[in-house]
Amino acid sequence: MKDNTNSIFDKSRPGRTGYTLPHLNIQPQDGLIPERFLRRTQPNLPEVSEGTVVRHFVNLSTKNHHVDKGFYPLGSCTMKYNPKVNNKIAQLPGFAELHPFQPSATAQGALRLMRELGRAFCEITGMDAITLQPAAGAHGEFTALLMMRAYHAHNGSPRKKVIIPDSAHGTNPASIIMAGYEVEQIKSNSKGLLDLDALKAAVNEDTAALMLTNPNTLGIFESGIEKIADIIHDADALLYMDGANLNALMGIARPGDMGFDAVHLNLHKTFSTPHGGGGPGSGPVAVNDKLEPFLPYPVIDVKDEGYIFDYERPLSIGRVGSFYGNFAVMVRAYTYILMMGSEGLTRASLAAIVNANYLKNKLREYFDLPYSENILHEVVFSGSRQAKKGVKTREIAKRLLDYGFHAPTVYFPLIVPEALMIEPTETETMETLDAFAQALIDIDKEIDENPEMVKSAPHTTPVRQLDEAAASRKLKLKYTKE
Ligand SMILES: *Cc1c(COP(=O)(O)O)cnc(C)c1O
Repeated sequence: MKDNTNSIFDKSRPGRTGYTLPHLNIQPQDGLIPERFLRRTQPNLPEVSEGTVVRHFVNLSTKNHHVDKGFYPLGSCTMKYNPKVNNKIAQLPGFAELHPFQPSATAQGALRLMRELGRAFCEITGMDAITLQPAAGAHGEFTALLMMRAYHAHNGSPRKKVIIPDSAHGTNPASIIMAGYEVEQIKSNSKGLLDLDALKAAVNEDTAALMLTNPNTLGIFESGIEKIADIIHDADALLYMDGANLNALMGIARPGDMGFDAVHLNLHKTFSTPHGGGGPGSGPVAVNDKLEPFLPYPVIDVKDEGYIFDYERPLSIGRVGSFYGNFAVMVRAYTYILMMGSEGLTRASLAAIVNANYLKNKLREYFDLPYSENILHEVVFSGSRQAKKGVKTREIAKRLLDYGFHAPTVYFPLIVPEALMIEPTETETMETLDAFAQALIDIDKEIDENPEMVKSAPHTTPVRQLDEAAASRKLKLKYTKE
């Protein structure tokens, strides 16, 4: 039976139940619960059998594409397979049932986990200290910029501008504005790298920082990073690394050793927490000793009495979130790191790089590749050749859904026209990569033979082409019966 355009409430039938609870041996009128807390009306709950509930949600879960269903090569996002053991550990009652208001003496295991996780991140990034509070990468950028602001103010030299390359992720300029700075954008050179002359020309006593993604959003390592660090530090400015691409570096190279003063990590990317459906993320910021005094409070410390939350931080920028960050995501990252070990993390990054280069070589004959040298964990093709034949990248992306694959990231980075940004990650098999490459090659052939087929895609999904502008402008957040 084909089903499931309805909500679970439409399936409700009076008297049907999906649970068996023990008989209630107290009654509201016994007076045990104060009158004012008693509800007056029955809650509006669907009355359905257990089987109906299971089928309803299983069917819903397969309507959208997700990483447990198929390949999801969304560039920059690191949609890797997330081992289920991470969830299992995060669900242990000792973690899941902790209350954030609990005295820390009764949550020593949790504090120890946070402390050890932070130390592991400092080791991986080559930094001195860390905050686990930010809830996402963008939030980490904002936190770091506030710390940089506090650092410059403390040194009696408040500054105005933060520099970014034209390949930067959109969250970088947004965070700069939110932190009260002006954005100064500089051009990349013909190899897709930061142009050192343009950088020298831009840096002056008003420069607070340079934000750089490394490897950058073209998947290319900024080989001039040490020179870049010198230019920035000679002007007493600070160097920030957008660490969203750390999946290419683990165990191979460390931002701290390259001269970065701060870096954020996206635990929901590199450290294996499910994401993409709006679930919680985590964007810790690791810093060197220049920025350490400005970290958000509390920081976790170890004293004679055990692990403590240290609030005695006079130069701290304060809190950037309620409580201590998204703890369950930290548990997943900690589990992942212990399971992988340093050797495993290194192998993961190496495999991510091999997989991206494998796809690069399989597809470069069919799609333009404007920047092709020293590609690491992701590869950015251009659909310009196909666009000239009348089929845009966004249409190729939709057609991929008919082949059972999520589209790569499209139209980003902005410096590649008709961009197709592919990040396969280390967790995919060669068979999957071959099938994906073949799908793109087949679509390229369809563009010559049957372009309408591609332009009207997707054909096999629960919904067809959507009005994307209306979808983001006229939000429909509530179910209404059609
Ligand atoms: C994902 C990403 C970000 C933002 O991280 P969120 O966790 O989504 O806030 C920033 N920069 C780059 C390069 C990214 O890929």
